[in-house]
Amino acid sequence: MYPLYQIRIMKQIGQLIGYILFFTITGFGQTSNSSNPNQGFKVIPLGVKGGLDESNLSAYLVAANGNDQFICLDAGTIYKGLEMAMDKKLFNESNPSIVQQKHINSYFISHAHLDHTAGLIMNSPNDVSKKLYGLPSVLEVFKKNYFTWSAWANFGNEGEVPVLKKYTYTPLVAKQEFEVEGTGLFVTPFILSHVNPYESTAFLVRNQSSYLLYLGDTGADSVEQSTQLLALWKTIAPLISKGQLKAIFIEVSFDNSVPAKSLYGHLNPALLMHELEKLNNLASGNLHKTPIYITHLKPCTDCEKNIQAQIQMSNQMGLKIHYPSQATKIDLY
Ligand SMILES: [Zn+2]
Ligand SMILES: [Zn+2]
Repeated sequence: MYPLYQIRIMKQIGQLIGYILFFTITGFGQTSNSSNPNQGFKVIPLGVKGGLDESNLSAYLVAANGNDQFICLDAGTIYKGLEMAMDKKLFNESNPSIVQQKHINSYFISHAHLDHTAGLIMNSPNDVSKKLYGLPSVLEVFKKNYFTWSAWANFGNEGEVPVLKKYTYTPLVAKQEFEVEGTGLFVTPFILSHVNPYESTAFLVRNQSSYLLYLGDTGADSVEQSTQLLALWKTIAPLISKGQLKAIFIEVSFDNSVPAKSLYGHLNPALLMHELEKLNNLASGNLHKTPIYITHLKPCTDCEKNIQAQIQMSNQMGLKIHYPSQATKIDLY
């Protein structure tokens, strides 16, 4: 027979072993997701530029790892990007329209400018029914300017009759996370300023405990007389510190030779770095852990080369800067 106090100690040791086993098996409390193959994201850029080349304009497919249902963040170019992705064996289907029908679950439009919407509009006849997410101000443009019968057939579910009801306008509410059915993804929209008072949107996408941030076109707070970016940085800074934010996609449209008054709601390398310094400070100097993908470069003779050189020169924080390339898959864990 054991004395009572020894039995109590043995019970407590047993409980402790139980806890250790539970935390080890479930991975509960882990900050790194590397051991779970279904954490993180795969991203397939269908288009990456901010102008001119209509076959390569902003559109990013994002899926949870382990899932083949993508959401499409902006939709400047669809067909050409899917065709190139098929050439690279990223999809095993017979043509780009089938990929669009079967693998694009829904569209998230940051703002209604044509370089973010043309691919969706042009390919709408071959698409199937799905949701079109946007802030009310963005959906208004589809209803009043694009799907109107005068500009294009009305593939929306509201507006000028007859309505073909292919796309269901689904208004977003800023800062409210919701689940995107069938994708394993959750999205939180944030309002951006894109030539004040015009709105654009950032999408914070979540798969389990990993996050990805995509920003549509945006100006710097200092130029836009706005605090939208600062508010966004405050929200995502803790995710950077904890290693949960797997990537930031952010625009730089012009090089530093373009003066603030001519930026029209866009960033240049100097303004980008100023904004990222604010974010880095809020994230206790941890921003170098999160890869930054620079999007939406507007082509001209030397613009893209200049933008890349100016970002590299001013990268005092040791940030991991990348440039997405059309139909080149990005794996984020
Ligand atoms: Zn744009
Ligand atoms: Zn724009």
